[in-house]
Amino acid sequence: MTVLEDLIQALSRLPGVGRKSASRMAYHLLQTDQEYNTRLARLIHGIQQRVQRCSRCRSFTEEGRDPCDICSSPNRDRRSLCVVEHPQDVLTLEATGAFHGLFHVLDGVISPLDGIGPEELNLPALLQRIREEQIGEIIIATNPTEEGDTTALYISHLVKKEGIRVTRLASGIPVGGDLEYADRITIARSLRGRTLLESLE
Ligand SMILES: [Zn+2]
Repeated sequence: MTVLEDLIQALSRLPGVGRKSASRMAYHLLQTDQEYNTRLARLIHGIQQRVQRCSRCRSFTEEGRDPCDICSSPNRDRRSLCVVEHPQDVLTLEATGAFHGLFHVLDGVISPLDGIGPEELNLPALLQRIREEQIGEIIIATNPTEEGDTTALYISHLVKKEGIRVTRLASGIPVGGDLEYADRITIARSLRGRTLLESLE
């Protein structure tokens, strides 16, 4: 295997990058200026040290900024907590500008087929936050998939005992879809039209 082939292989492991794109990228890198390559390599090399998880919401935050900017902001509505599957969902919801509360990242969804049960998710921390923080409403923004719905119901049962209002994003997002690909207006509408989860049962 050649060095170039190694690079193509490595690039094609990135999500959404097929072999053809990987090969195009590799040839581009080969012919671009060295400065760009050095900068890119340095950014990739340091990303896991420089961007870490927030100890409160588990979203990503820059090194030395823990809790993250959202968790430590005095301008957020601390009574509403939006529960999402992945850290990138925080970015998606933030981009809508429609939500001003706090976030909690589950790091996945319940998926028996993939061997992921509730114990694999970031749920103990959620319960702890509900008990320690002044949260009045949990908005569950898991994706509208079977796993997302199962997880939403599970959480609703879990937190009901704590006497907290639990809502789910309205179904403006296509069933089986992904929050990441929904447009801003749709997400904003889903937030406004969120439904009390009890009514789904
Ligand atoms: Zn945070």
